[in-house]
Order: sequence, then C-alpha cells, then structure tokens
Amino acid sequence: MIVQGEQQGHVAQIIDGKAVAKSIRAGLKTSIEEIVAKGHRRPGLAVVLVGEDPASALYVKNKIKACAEVGIESIHRKFEANISQDELINCVKTLSEDDSVDGILVQLPLPGDLKAEKVLEALCADKDVDGLTTASMGRLLEGKAGLRPCTPSGVIALLEHYNVPISGKRAVVIGRSNLVGKPAALLLMQKNATVTICHSKSEQLDQICQSADILVVAAGRKQFVKGSWVKSGACVIDVGIHHSKNEKGDSEIAGDVEFKEASRHASLITPVPGGVGPMTIAMLLSNTLQAYKMRTGV
Ligand code: NAD
Repeated sequence: MIVQGEQQGHVAQIIDGKAVAKSIRAGLKTSIEEIVAKGHRRPGLAVVLVGEDPASALYVKNKIKACAEVGIESIHRKFEANISQDELINCVKTLSEDDSVDGILVQLPLPGDLKAEKVLEALCADKDVDGLTTASMGRLLEGKAGLRPCTPSGVIALLEHYNVPISGKRAVVIGRSNLVGKPAALLLMQKNATVTICHSKSEQLDQICQSADILVVAAGRKQFVKGSWVKSGACVIDVGIHHSKNEKGDSEIAGDVEFKEASRHASLITPVPGGVGPMTIAMLLSNTLQAYKMRTGV
C-alpha cells in the first residue's frame, strides 16, 4: 500500500551534518589563522563548568577540544557543585569584563539550587555565544545584530548549505523551548518563511505538519513524528536526541522523527546522529569568532 504523498521507491537525500560542520570548522580555522597572521590575538572562549555531572563534563571537554582545533583559546573555569550563586555570578561578571575573553559559555544545567537565569543575567550579551540571555533573545526577536542560539543557527546553516528555499515557504516548528523551538521559528521567519509553531497543546499536528515545506522537529519525544505527517518533497530537520539500549544491550541514538518512514516522503532529511548534533559546536565556534569580530572590529 502506498500512503498519501509517498512515492514508490523514493528515498530522501540525507543531510550530512558532520560534513557541513567540518567545512564550517575548516573555514573558521582559516579565518582565525589569517587574523593571527596579521598580528592580532586569537579569539578566546571561557567555559564555565559547575559540579561533576559526567555528561556536562564531556560536553565541555568536546567544546574545549573543538576550540583548540580551530585556533580559539579556551579559558576553563571549573567549580565544585557547592559554589554559591553569588560566587558564580561574580565569576561570570569578571569574565564579562575581561578583554581577552570574547565568548562565555556556562554549561547547563547547573547543579542543585543554582539558578541558571540569574547567572545568565550577569553575562554580557556581546559575549553570549550560546545566545540564551534575555538580551540576546530580545535582539533576535527585534532582528538586531547579535549572537543567536547555536542549535537553531545550525538548523539554518544546514538549510542554507543544501540550498533549501526558505523565503516564502511554509515552515513548521514543533517545540517552543527557548533553547530550540522559539529561536528556530524566529530565525526561519527572518529568512521570510511563513512559520507555524506547534507545541504540546497543538491539535491536528499531523495536518499542520503535512503543510510544511520545511519541518523542524524539537519535541524531545522519540520518533514522535510519523512518516505519513511529512509532505511529499519536504525538508525534515530532526533536532531530537534520544539515547537508549537495544535488546542486545548496545547503545542506540534516535531522533524525534520516524526516520525511515519520513525518508520515503521527504526530499531531504537529517539523520540522528550525524544531522543537527554536530552543527551545535560548529555554531558555538562560529559565534565566538563573530563575538571577537564585533568586539575588536578586526
Ligand atoms: P524541551 O523539552 O525544552 O521542549 C520540547 C518542546 O516540545 C516543548 O516546547 C513542548 O511544548 C513540545 N512538545 C512536547 N511534546 C509535544 C507533543 N506531543 N506535541 C507537540 N509538541 C510537543 O526540549 P528542547 O530543549 O527544545 O529539546 C528538544 C529536543 O532536541 C530534545 O530531544 C533534545 O535532546 C534535543 N536537542 C538537541 C540538540 C542538538 O544539538 N542536536 C540541542 C538541544 C536539544
């Protein structure tokens, strides 16, 4: 049986996020080496880690490694989980005032009772390479120059790399988090897409999805979007990441979309892993260079 919109034997082109991220990192490395060759200092990224959460420690390690690979200096600030809110805020304020620091990243979530929003408030928006402070969000909303959240920027970079038409097209974003859904929708709107934002209370999600030329899924629900929800020829960007073990006990990673079924309808689709995931760190590095350029005028 052929489901509506499905083309017999059709399989979507797979978006290679790893390759796109690699080419972005190579471009950044070249730009930074050119800057250094002219006698300027390297861009600097401060990474603040609190507590012993192994996942956070691994993310930070990967970010520091990625900085080194493209020639960004990383400044590491590590604190015990029992650091006080005021001490942490003071650290962020000091980094905000330090001229050798272009970007500041506070690894989230913070442990215990530490309030991320209070810490982020202390972070200077011009150095907010995660694009998560209220000031950065305001700049995004108003369409002013500023640093954009990394994962949604990665989504746009993938669409642009694959020459997916955005202007005038219908984009549907599933998810309204500050981290992914909302900024992704705003970025798509700035590229002149007609954007619909769906969330946990949205009704007739299948029908809304079927109208999408571009479907961005950040619902945080494993394989939630069914293949039959995907319009024929649509571009599907799956932001979700879900780690699990299969019957053999091997680790598996899946996304928010039923990949195989959706591939029969879509023209382009991101895999999980290897789609949006690798783009996030690449955009963090890109934001750090952008922050450096904005601050120094180099
Ligand atoms: P979140 O939990 O903060 O937000 C999920 C959003 O999905 C909410 O706005 C909610 O309204 C919506 N939602 C939940 N259930 C829904 C339903 N049944 N129908 C429609 N909408 C529904 O999650 P998040 O931080 O935005 O992340 C989303 C996913 O993206 C997660 O799987 C996360 O792990 C992944 N993620 C990946 C990267 C990356 O680098 N690839 C980065 C950030 C997040």
